[in-house]
Amino acid sequence: MTNIQIHIPGFPRIGSARELKTALERHWRGELPASALEQTGRALRARHWALQREAGLDHVTVGDFAFYDHVANHIQLLGCEPARFGFTPQQDALQRYFAMARGDTGHAAHADCGHGHACQHGAALEMTKWFDTNYHYLVPEFAGDTAFSLHAERLLAEVAEARALGHPVKAVLLGPLTFLWLGKEKGASGFDRLGLLDQLLPVYGALLAQLKHAGVDWVQLDEPMLGLDLPSAWRNAFEPAYWQLSQAGAPLLLATYFSPLEENLGLACRLPVAGLHVDGVRAAHELTSVADWLPGHKVLSVGIVDGRNVWRTDLDAALAVLRPLRDKRTGPLWLSTSCSLLHVPFSLEQETQLDPEIRSWLAFATEKLAELAVLRATLAGADTTGALAAARAAVASRRASPRVHNTAVAARLASLTPEQDRRAKPFPQRQAVQRERLGLPAFPTTTIGSFPQTAEIRAARAAHKRGELDAAGYERTMLAQIADAVHRQELLGLDVLVHGEAERNDMVEYFGEQLDGFAFTQHGWVQSYGSRCVKPPLIYGDVARPQPMTVAWTAHAQRLTKRPMKGMLTGPVTILQWSFVRDDQPRATTARQIALAIRDEVADLEQAGIAIIQIDEPALREGLPLRRARWDDYLDWATGAFRLTAAVAADHTQIHTHMCYAEFNDILPQIAAMDADVITIETSRSDMELLAGFGQFQYPNEIGPGVYDIHSPRVPDTQQMVRLLRKASSVIAPDQLWVNPDCGLKTRGWEETEAALRNMVAAARLLREEQ
Ligand code: GLN
Ligand code: ZN
Repeated sequence: MTNIQIHIPGFPRIGSARELKTALERHWRGELPASALEQTGRALRARHWALQREAGLDHVTVGDFAFYDHVANHIQLLGCEPARFGFTPQQDALQRYFAMARGDTGHAAHADCGHGHACQHGAALEMTKWFDTNYHYLVPEFAGDTAFSLHAERLLAEVAEARALGHPVKAVLLGPLTFLWLGKEKGASGFDRLGLLDQLLPVYGALLAQLKHAGVDWVQLDEPMLGLDLPSAWRNAFEPAYWQLSQAGAPLLLATYFSPLEENLGLACRLPVAGLHVDGVRAAHELTSVADWLPGHKVLSVGIVDGRNVWRTDLDAALAVLRPLRDKRTGPLWLSTSCSLLHVPFSLEQETQLDPEIRSWLAFATEKLAELAVLRATLAGADTTGALAAARAAVASRRASPRVHNTAVAARLASLTPEQDRRAKPFPQRQAVQRERLGLPAFPTTTIGSFPQTAEIRAARAAHKRGELDAAGYERTMLAQIADAVHRQELLGLDVLVHGEAERNDMVEYFGEQLDGFAFTQHGWVQSYGSRCVKPPLIYGDVARPQPMTVAWTAHAQRLTKRPMKGMLTGPVTILQWSFVRDDQPRATTARQIALAIRDEVADLEQAGIAIIQIDEPALREGLPLRRARWDDYLDWATGAFRLTAAVAADHTQIHTHMCYAEFNDILPQIAAMDADVITIETSRSDMELLAGFGQFQYPNEIGPGVYDIHSPRVPDTQQMVRLLRKASSVIAPDQLWVNPDCGLKTRGWEETEAALRNMVAAARLLREEQ
């Protein structure tokens, strides 16, 4: 059996130098006409297809490009733009697209739209995380009167572009079930979006027929929802739907990724499609079953190269998996990355500053294409000795490197005792000594950590980075900013102060830069949403803290005030979650290593006289595995890592944690098990509804439910916050409540920040009088 092809489920669209970001932002500012933006898109696609073909891929993937988000592309492709935008067919499609993505300012500005002050008609589509990645998609909205119609001009034009360049084409689409699954119902309750499937399928059928007619060889239909726990109605919908789609006669490759298929494995194997793609990294243990169950004539596409991480593939190990599959299968075997390469940086080529040894351990998107080519060539019997030896050497160097392995860290982990993740006394006793020590009023007021990152702060950081401002000058500027923030908080009358995080560029990067085991790229950008990209740190080795990271800043701030200064740390789960992590040890182990490093910082802050320490864990919830059955295990080690960080604190030190907006109700026992003395959460946008669950659960420790939304420059008035606090007091005992904004204030300006906090302090005082 020699018919081995190579392909990828998708490629990064932002460009090696983030050309798409630049062009988009210029276009939105009115500096670049749509025609030039389109030209940028065409150029990027052409370049990315050329890379795929040069690497030897049998098909280029068309349809993975998007000016904002591929799910949003499907909303237009399938003709289901929400009616609330009031679009007319005369309106330019690209303008409508950006209106859905970013909000229709035209509509909002229309005072007389007849929809009143709180008109939501032009509000941007909601954004949410794409499965368990850090990529955000725009959420399709479905209602009883949603209708579908085909608008394939853009996709067909891209297919034509690729064909004109001489490339064999595999088009990629979101499958109809996953498209509906990712959306949400709007309007009348009782409506179920699955009911729209019957209307959607003919549109997909017509689309498949047009793609076939346009000369595509394959259509990849992405149905990653097959890796989730599905309600039976959704699962049962697959077979009839795919029978209908198969009528179009286009060869279909059903693609799954991110998660094992488990109970959906049999279903995925028997759907009437020409091939099945599976995630050979996250679902490696299912490969043999898939090879057994998938009918012999079908294509099996094995995503053997990790599309979610940055490490060079162990080619020997990959070949050991692939050879038996090849021998077993009579049908074609395709090799691929586990998922779209959207989730990894573009190329290592530009990483000239990266330590050469660490660089040799990595493979970004373009390097992964080359890995597929070597795997295929090897299986086909070509002489790849040199390439295999190079990969082997890299893997061996990484495995043995003293930079990866720190025996002191290993010894410390091995000697951990169960008491080390438990505070000495239970919460009620800690609460008593902390109250005694801190002497705070009822409804104590505080903020979440960051204050406005002013132009001055950003200019100083940039100048320092360019080498124009020396370390001493930079430090002086930051200290002055901290002093300013402390002074303003005293004038506002806040009870627990923060230093304001002026010296931090980013809450993960700041710590990563000071910890052993972390590396940073220059250009390792990954799309987060729209034009926004993030550059996650790489955790390559055992994590250790050579020296204190925050103590000098915090102690400086404490010396400026008699009020308690809250120390501010990022928690181990959040640091883990927002980085590329090692694949040579369990995530739990890396989390524990980070926990120990941050634990030492807690101890040093306490030693320096800091009485309150906040350990932020906004990413705790998003780390939940896609499958429920694995939640307990994750929550167990994740909350354990938090406790390991916090539990070094003496009973009289008050530990806070902060989480942003999240669904907490199904994980309240585990949130409680973190045993933070105080938790602050984002609740104002849900009108305190989020707090009801904490009340019903009888959450035992103290809580600061956010009383105003920091995402908007609007200054909340006192009465509005009083109302929210009364509402909070009706579900949580008032002596358990804190008063604070929803989240950090770094994106705000000082003027609105001071006005809002002044009103917030007034609201807390009013509540105290009501006591
Ligand atoms: N302490 C951080 C800040 O105030 C918390 C940010 C977050 O929750 N994402 O900015
Ligand atoms: Zn937050």
